[in-house]
Amino acid sequence: TQQQYIRNFSIIAHIDHGKSTLADRIMEMTETVDERERTDQLLDSMSVERAHGVTVKSRTVRNYYTADDGHRYELNFIDTPGHVDFSYEVSKSLAASEGAILLVDAAQGVQAQTVANFRLAKANGLTVLPVLNKIDSPNADPDRVERQVRALDPSMETAKIMRISAKTGEGVSEVLAAIIRQIPAPQGSRDQPLKALVFDSQYDTYKGVIAYLRLFDGHLETGRTLRLMANSTNFVSDEIGTFAPSMQACEQLEAGDVGYVVTGLKDPTQVRVGDTLTLDSQPTQRALPGYAPAQPMVYAGIFPKSGDSKELAAAMAKLVLNDSSLTCESEQSDVLGSGFRCGFLGAFHLQIIRERLHDEFGIDVLTTAPNVPYRVHLRGAKAGQVVEVDRPTTFPDYSEIDYVEEPFARVDISMPGSALNDVMKLAEQSKGTLVDLGDDDQLLLASYHMPVSEIAYDFFNKLKSVSHGYATMNVTMEDFEPADVVKVEIYINYARVDALSFVLHREDAPRVAQELVHKLKYAVPRRLYPMPTQAVVEGRALARVDIPPLRKNAAVNGEKRSTSKKQALLRRQSANKRAAAQSDIELPQSVFNAILEAE
Ligand code: GDP
Ligand code: MG
Repeated sequence: TQQQYIRNFSIIAHIDHGKSTLADRIMEMTETVDERERTDQLLDSMSVERAHGVTVKSRTVRNYYTADDGHRYELNFIDTPGHVDFSYEVSKSLAASEGAILLVDAAQGVQAQTVANFRLAKANGLTVLPVLNKIDSPNADPDRVERQVRALDPSMETAKIMRISAKTGEGVSEVLAAIIRQIPAPQGSRDQPLKALVFDSQYDTYKGVIAYLRLFDGHLETGRTLRLMANSTNFVSDEIGTFAPSMQACEQLEAGDVGYVVTGLKDPTQVRVGDTLTLDSQPTQRALPGYAPAQPMVYAGIFPKSGDSKELAAAMAKLVLNDSSLTCESEQSDVLGSGFRCGFLGAFHLQIIRERLHDEFGIDVLTTAPNVPYRVHLRGAKAGQVVEVDRPTTFPDYSEIDYVEEPFARVDISMPGSALNDVMKLAEQSKGTLVDLGDDDQLLLASYHMPVSEIAYDFFNKLKSVSHGYATMNVTMEDFEPADVVKVEIYINYARVDALSFVLHREDAPRVAQELVHKLKYAVPRRLYPMPTQAVVEGRALARVDIPPLRKNAAVNGEKRSTSKKQALLRRQSANKRAAAQSDIELPQSVFNAILEAE
């Protein structure tokens, strides 16, 4: 297709505002999907996506549409994920497009992620087409929502705001016409050296890494030696193609096109999202500006529940390739054996990975309590040194620490006025500082500065609960700032259990330590002897319980000190067995959940 007949666009919206439904409707109204291929929602094909009703990974589809002017247009669109954890993926799809449809639910109105995605699209220089969806809904109030959209930015004040129902199809042809009329055609030159953006990637067991491309300049055929510019990796491709909507091989891709190239490379780390692909014999002068790499907000250990870690290693390698925002290193644990230390965008992302390991690879894993990354500034002999800590086990001893920094984020929360009090209370409990409060036509938007550790795990669910489901949020990472945090170490039967260590704010340590040891009393599988369990901070035990022994006549109450001789003997024996005891403690998932709940 000639460039003037190509349009590359994304759909950006808050979760549940109808992206996937609109995408399906567009595919139906263009020459893309044949009726037999249709499943309920074509785009959300990963099984976790169906289960959660959200899009996890961006997808790309090519559609053909004959417009009123009689020309056949190629419409390449990229679906973007909608959950708070995944705004990183959104920026990737935006960099590959010239325009974006800003889709807003006409009943719910502008939400935190509508605002955030709109700003991202503007920052990427995209043409934004505002569209109100769900006008068929009895709760729709398009006039009010239109005023909210106009208040986003001066460019929206005079923009034409379309009103549609993605469900019934009403108004959708108008959207197609607007895409063709208003979104600029790609500008690149076919005669320049090849310059293509790798905006996503996927791993195929037989074909190796498949890179998703947006060509800005030049053209691409099979059989030529190509170069990935970031680390000068060369390869020869024997397949290129487009998404129609499944992968379909083709002869050539040109400036302006969106498609894929089968690299044949088997090492996932060689293909970086954000990298520039060019020709080895005739390279482009300058690489495209890459994306800032995704910053994990949450780290957790992942260990196989049973079986060997080789299977897990192979599965993790594939997941890392398919999901450039997931990081993964090997980790050794005294009790859990060998596994991985992984970085996630948030708690939901962690849950998605657990489920993908189960669904796609049949592997059940144990995940340790998540933590944020810390920067530890040392003192004494190591004064001036800074260590980046992504796991509690490597958190330096308190005697070596000058001060610690933790990551902060800006949290934008939108809500109806009635939820404001409860939301503010929750934000304050979560150590948030209010930095901005705005009110636009019944849309309250409050912005907080908060430690990531407070929001990474459960904040989103709590927010939903205190606002009866009405509040929504968007998280933007900010800088590291000094924090008064300490490491809590758990000793069971006098042996430190590394996998149970965690880091938290000093002021919360006494309460969490108490709650935790009481939860451990029930969560740790019992032995024939009682096991004293302590939570220790900076060398001091903050809390202690005895895990009662496994016996029929459990005359011994774990809380009270038994004076019976038999009991004393058991105690001594178990103390002598310290070293042995450590390796023989079992840690089911419930033990790690206890840490989460206590925190
Ligand atoms: P996404 O999260 O933005 O991809 O949203 P979905 O496309 O999955 O839609 C979320 C929900 O809204 C689904 O239950 C859809 O059936 C519903 N929905 C989408 N578009 C419309 C519409 O135009 N009218 C009505 N009444 N419901 C819609
Ligand atoms: Mg969706």
